[in-house]
Amino acid sequence: MSIQAPAAEAHVSVAIVGGGQAGLSMSYYLKQSGIDHVVLEKRSVTHAWRAQRWDAFCLVTPNWQCALPDYPYRGDDPHGFMKKDEIIAWLDGFVRHVDAPVREGVAVTRVARRPQGGFLVQTSDGALSADQVVVASGGYHTPIVPRMAERLPAHVVQIQSSEYRTPEALPEGAVLVVGSGQSGAQIAEDLHLAGRKVVLAVGEAPRCARFYRGRDVVDWLADMKYYDMPVEEHPLREGVRDNTNHYVTGRDGGRDIDLRKFAHEGMELYGVLEDYADGKLRFAPNLQENLDSADATYNRINASIDRFIAQQGISAPPGNSYQPLWAPQAEREWLDLAASAIGSIVWCIGFRPDFSWIDLPVFNGRGYPGHVRGVTAQNGLYFLGLPWQHTWGSGRFSGVARDAAYLADRIAAQARPDARAA
Ligand SMILES: Cc1cc2nc3c(=O)[nH]c(=O)nc-3n(C[C@H](O)[C@H](O)[C@H](O)COP(=O)(O)OP(=O)(O)OC[C@H]3O[C@@H](n4cnc5c(N)ncnc54)[C@H](O)[C@@H]3O)c2cc1C
Repeated sequence: MSIQAPAAEAHVSVAIVGGGQAGLSMSYYLKQSGIDHVVLEKRSVTHAWRAQRWDAFCLVTPNWQCALPDYPYRGDDPHGFMKKDEIIAWLDGFVRHVDAPVREGVAVTRVARRPQGGFLVQTSDGALSADQVVVASGGYHTPIVPRMAERLPAHVVQIQSSEYRTPEALPEGAVLVVGSGQSGAQIAEDLHLAGRKVVLAVGEAPRCARFYRGRDVVDWLADMKYYDMPVEEHPLREGVRDNTNHYVTGRDGGRDIDLRKFAHEGMELYGVLEDYADGKLRFAPNLQENLDSADATYNRINASIDRFIAQQGISAPPGNSYQPLWAPQAEREWLDLAASAIGSIVWCIGFRPDFSWIDLPVFNGRGYPGHVRGVTAQNGLYFLGLPWQHTWGSGRFSGVARDAAYLADRIAAQARPDARAA
């Protein structure tokens, strides 16, 4: 829906919404092209890395994959995994490197077409008009929480994965972690290592090995050009965007996350959490299936590395197939909340996109934008930083620079002659 713009709004050639690594990368390339723009950030730049990661967080991707525009990782541990403080320090350097024209504390509340052309960008601090708009507001907006959560007893503390900080910050008693994707598996591990009793509802997330045949699996996959594969060439096509990330960790130099090992050590594993009734949690009888499926992915990735090594004639230490060291004796479907002394729940079952503030018809039935490499059917509207936007690395440190450079060229080609004057 188009609306009448106020007469005296400020104008900018390009408005970038979001001051995370994606928005700042976009700003970097627009600065290179001399195109005037503004970055509108509702909190502060790189907020997600500062405020939405737990204390023991470290990268899952190796440091060498931290490759923002003309700002590679230059530390002495390219095959290591930066801890939270190190990531923030590295990003602080990137913020200085870009020196973007940012307005912090300014939320974009609406983007719509102007009748006279371009876009009206309404913000918490007034409106502006823009010839082009780049939405770089991240890929993880609204945490998913099943409505059964409303019926859980009030004394059970419930938090989102993005709110989890330390094992000590949770109340006494067992902790139920719901979901075993990258966040759920690592948070369960963090609690487990701290000696907390953990009950984990295991979902359908796949897993992969950290190291295989003498190298980080990421190194092998990079050599195999997996990270250069565009979404159109992926066997799942756009469907890959719905995939849950593989669980593995960079903690303590990197290692596998093996939930069977945790179970062997006392963590209680269940299948997918389905309901709560009469003081009891009900789980789907799919723990065995989910563990087997995660292991199958683990073995499948390793087998693809085996094939690559054989095809290329590479000399590498021998590989082996994962042998399960624990299996559930029976599927347990009910857990009495009081008897299990669960005092807190950490929800780790993903996020829904929230682009409700974009008043333009570019979304599918699930609220995901239609685009090709971030270019939408609405002339001048772009997305950047979405998971698998173009390649695996689009929503990460490794691929956002390539995507931003691509969009910068598109934007420059469309920019009005006076866009560069500023
Ligand atoms: C738990 C977790 C672990 C991860 N681990 C890794 C890893 O190991 N390696 C890796 O490469 N990647 C990792 N990622 C993925 C990715 O690097 C991060 O999600 C990163 O934060 C994405 O950057 P971004 O700039 O695209 O989005 P964000 O960092 O989310 O930035 C978006 C910004 O937009 C702002 N914003 C949103 N809406 C508006 C609005 N309407 N108006 C104004 N501002 C707005 C937000 O405040 C935010 O600052 C991880 C992600 C998560 C969640």
